[in-house]
Formats: sequence, C-alpha cells, structure tokens
Amino acid sequence: MSDTLLAGLASRLGPRGLLTGSDAASAGWSSLGRPIAIARPSSVEEVVAVIRMCAEAGVPVVPWGGKTGLVGGANADGAVALTLERMNRILQVAPDDGVMIVEAGCVVQTACEAAEAQGMFLPLDLGSRGSATIGGVISTNAGGNRVLRFGMMRDMVLGLEAVLADGSVVSSLTPLIKNNTGYDLKQLFIGSEGTLGVVTKAVLRLRPHLPSHNVALVAIDAFADVIRLMRRLESRLGGQLSAFEVMWKDYYRLVTTAPARGRPIVPLGHEYYVVIEMLGGDPAGDPGRFQAVLAETLEGGLIQDAVVAQSRAEGAAIWALRDDGEQVQRDGPIAAFDVSLRLSRVEPFSQALRERLHARWPQSRVILFGHIGDGNIHIVVGVDPERADMRRQLDEAVFGLLAEHEGSVSAEHGIGVDKRPYLALSRSPVELDLMRRLKQSLDPGGVLNPGKVIAEA
Ligand code: ZN
Repeated sequence: MSDTLLAGLASRLGPRGLLTGSDAASAGWSSLGRPIAIARPSSVEEVVAVIRMCAEAGVPVVPWGGKTGLVGGANADGAVALTLERMNRILQVAPDDGVMIVEAGCVVQTACEAAEAQGMFLPLDLGSRGSATIGGVISTNAGGNRVLRFGMMRDMVLGLEAVLADGSVVSSLTPLIKNNTGYDLKQLFIGSEGTLGVVTKAVLRLRPHLPSHNVALVAIDAFADVIRLMRRLESRLGGQLSAFEVMWKDYYRLVTTAPARGRPIVPLGHEYYVVIEMLGGDPAGDPGRFQAVLAETLEGGLIQDAVVAQSRAEGAAIWALRDDGEQVQRDGPIAAFDVSLRLSRVEPFSQALRERLHARWPQSRVILFGHIGDGNIHIVVGVDPERADMRRQLDEAVFGLLAEHEGSVSAEHGIGVDKRPYLALSRSPVELDLMRRLKQSLDPGGVLNPGKVIAEA
C-alpha cells in the first residue's frame, strides 16, 4: 500500500519533492519519530495532492515547520511528514496597510528582517527564531518574550490560507483588522497544531519600527514587589513596557557562573532578577525617562539593585543571561514544564511546589524562570536518571498542584502528545467534547496529525 503511495507522491512532486529511506531521517528539538517519507511540496496545489493521496491510502500526514516544538506535536512515526520548507517566500510587505503576506515555510527571523527592511516590525520574539517557521508558530500559537505588549501569535494573524483534510483550500487572506463577518475561521487553524488543517500562507499584522531599545536588569527580594514593579512600569512607561522576564535566584546563579559564559551583571544574593525592556519611538528622550522611572523605584525601595544597559551590546548581554536556558541541563537530566497561572497565584504555587517536591525527593533541584508579565513560568526539575518512573510521578505532582491553583498545563508550548494526558486538568469535559466534534467534522478520517492534542476517537 505505502509503496504505491510513495510512487504516486514521487511522480506528482518530482525529484526534489519527496525524501524516502535514510533521506527521510530528520533531526529537530522534538522527537520526530520515523516518517515513511518526507513530502516537500512547492505549491499549495502540491500540498492538496499530498493530503488527497495520503487520505486515499489511509496514511496520516504530519505537518512540519521548523521542528522546534517541545511537546512531540511533530512526531511523524509511520506517517508522511509534510514540510513546507520549499514554500518560504515573502509575497508582500505593505507598510501602508501594516501587513505582510508570507508563505508558511518562511523562517520567523527572515520574516522579521523583511518587515524591518520596510521600516516595519513583526513583534514575535522567541528563542527558536532562527529555525521556527511562520506556519509552525501559527499552528502552535507561539508566545515568547513580548507577549505582554504585542500578544501571542494569534494576535498577529489577520488572515490565512489552509488546506483541509479533504483537500479543499480555505483562502481567508484578508488584511483587514476589523472583519466581523461570521465565524472567525482562521482561529480554527491557529494553535490547533496541524490537526484541523495545514497552514500554507498568512497575512501578518505589522507594527511600526521602534528605534529605541532600553534594557535593564533589576534585583528584587520579595515576589509581591515583582508584581508591584510590573504594574508601576506598565503605568509609568505609558504602554511601552515590552518584556518583563523573571529569573528566580537559582536560575540566575546557573547562567552567571562557569561553565556559563555570563557573569553577574547585578550581584548574586537576591531572590529575583528581572529583565525589563522598553521599546519606544524616541531614541533621544526614551533612555532618560526609562532611567528616571527605575531610579524612582530604587529610591522608593521597590527594587534593591539595578543596572541599565548603556549600549546595544550591554542590552544584549542582559538578554543573553535570560536566553541561556541550556544551563539548566548542565547538572544532569531534567524535566521541563511550561505552565501559566494568575499572577497572584504564581508565588503561592511556586512555594508549594518546592515544598511538595522536596518532601518527596529531598535532593530535587527546582529552577524557575519565565514570562511573568503573562503569568507564564517555565519550571525545570532535575530528575534521577535511575528512576524511570519519576517523570510520570513528577508530571502528576506538578500538574495536580497546578490544577489546585487553577492554572494551565501549557502556557505556550502546546499539547502535542506529551501534555495530552493532562489536557483535562485545564479544560472542561464540554470543551474537550467540542474539540473532538470539531476534529471529527473537519477530519473524519483522521488524516491530519492524528493523536495530537486530543486522543483519536
Ligand atoms: Zn517561553
């Protein structure tokens, strides 16, 4: 069966369009499984052909973007992986309309640079910007460092084109910001991880280029003051606060001590370290205002120490500490979590989590950091490599406590397969049933990324 399918795909897609055998092995951040082939269509017509032919043969199709997901959403074991890497063109940048139109395989950073070249700004900013693709960040509704001001990917998509499981093409490539014309169909494809359709093109909303970058690192001893500082900055900076990233002290120690390349820019010894970024339009006036607001909070005792970057390079050095997440792996295997909570619950949750994990595993290391402006924390726990059962127990401990605090089991990484067993902790039975009904109605044959997000019926 699959030989006939592969022969058909090869003849339809041409020599560059299909990889099989050892060529179909692929590497990425996520576990990708072993696809029976990798289809590399170069047009939406070819995407349609791949989906139709696979549906007919009863072989699932798993869409691939930059393969930087962290929850197993791109696992293509036994399926045809469909990569959009050849469909990577920037079709239009229209500054007057404040939009750009891109193909789904375009790398995020390339799209950002194309916007910038026209004096515009695509505000998505995440660690995988050099390999994640526009289709991937749409289908996973990616977040990142500037959600606080510009929203998640969902907030940057005005229109899109997607191919459904039956091969029909939904073309909703509208550049309109206001468009209240019935169901907002694009939302079906944003954040649904390729289970309802394959995104092939998108119209993205752009912002004006913001020439003034102001970055500071501050130290704070009480979590209540972290929240008060954020509210103060939101108000005093008049909506220009663009990032507010917190590193708990254990994370800060890891990224500022060898073998990490970073060094303490603000001295060790405090409880919390916050990276603050303000993007503005007035390079002459903004730095003074930024500095004055921080000086005022220092004098008022809200923060204990602060360093304001005096150059792009100093700003980059501060961001490099926050971005050096790989240090969390240097002391052995880890389990990582991406959760969100109401801001008022973040610290009670974190303290209870430490207590619960230490009571059960006295040696356990718990490291926290994250996008506090969005109530999103990344939790890293060192796991004992000798204990294969620990991961499951850890998942249950973390997610159980999270449910008690009414949090979400996935803030920005999605569900994939890894978080699927815990989806019901964040979603009601009626919501889960509605998700299943949508999947059933759009993809009754289970062709598109089956088993991801929700279990197969
Ligand atoms: Zn993150």
